[in-house]
Amino acid sequence: MLLSVITPCYNEALVVEETYRRLTEVMVRTGMDYELVFVNDGSRDNTYALLLQLAQQDKAVKVIHFSRNFGHQCAVTAGINHCHGDLAVIIDADLQDPPEVILDMLEIQKKEEADVVYGVRKKREGESWFKLTTAKWFYRILNKLSDVQFPVDTGDFRLISRRIIDEFNRLHEKNKYIRGLISWMGYKQVPCYYERKERFAGETKYPLKKMLKFASTGLLSFSKKPLKLAVWLGMLSVLVALVYAIVILIMKILHPESFVTGWTSTIFMIIFFGGVQLLTIGVLGEYIGSLFDEAKDRPEYIISEKVNFE
Ligand code: UDP
Ligand code: MG
Repeated sequence: MLLSVITPCYNEALVVEETYRRLTEVMVRTGMDYELVFVNDGSRDNTYALLLQLAQQDKAVKVIHFSRNFGHQCAVTAGINHCHGDLAVIIDADLQDPPEVILDMLEIQKKEEADVVYGVRKKREGESWFKLTTAKWFYRILNKLSDVQFPVDTGDFRLISRRIIDEFNRLHEKNKYIRGLISWMGYKQVPCYYERKERFAGETKYPLKKMLKFASTGLLSFSKKPLKLAVWLGMLSVLVALVYAIVILIMKILHPESFVTGWTSTIFMIIFFGGVQLLTIGVLGEYIGSLFDEAKDRPEYIISEKVNFE
């Protein structure tokens, strides 16, 4: 049995060596054959050199270097595409997900004969109030909007079987929302509860902009409901317009003399309908943008170098 560990790294020079050490320690304890697949997602710091050095010292370390920063989900995709394991673990480089939890995951996998053991965060240390609340609400809203049910408080930290890896490799969609796709695949999926720690060093590589993009990818790829927003908003605005017309009519009948056909009402209507239209066009734009990406059919990532892959 070969176990692959997939770790995306973007500017993680402060942590990779420690991550390597902790992962290796855990791998030795499993007694399994293993490979550590590090995907360097176009880091601009020293990550490249450090990974190269680790790969020279230890043949179990395999490194994929991207030609530039393609993003977390693309890095994980490349790792899954290139790993050889019968089982694979996806884990962040920053040690927020403790490598020791992999031992629990393996045990659960064996006992339950599961295809996926996903990490569920019981507690999250050292993360901002903002991140915690937005994450919490995002997963709950996504579940409401989507046809597939996703486990909440779950990241990409998980153990997957060869069956899942092979199915994943058959997917050709571009903007992947990996945790969603794996849930969507079915088979037996069981949780493993753990405490999420503080980042070992460095700072988050997910600023607000990337978080928003990630949330929109999840929403666009698993829900068509925003598209239907147009219908509801349309109905709502017709209703508002009707009520408004009736009010004006009654006022005109009761007080014909004092009724000023002012521009306030006109402006109000223009702004209201303008807003509704812009909003729905925006929603359409998001989906068309997604289709555009699919139609161009560009690869999700470009590899500049592979180390220790024979
Ligand atoms: N990451 C990546 N490419 C990116 C952003 C992040 O490969 O463009 C990696 C990063 O190195 C880390 C993981 O994705 O291993 C999760 O990122 P981070 O810990 O910064 O996110 P957070 O835990 O704050 O959500
Ligand atoms: Mg992190």
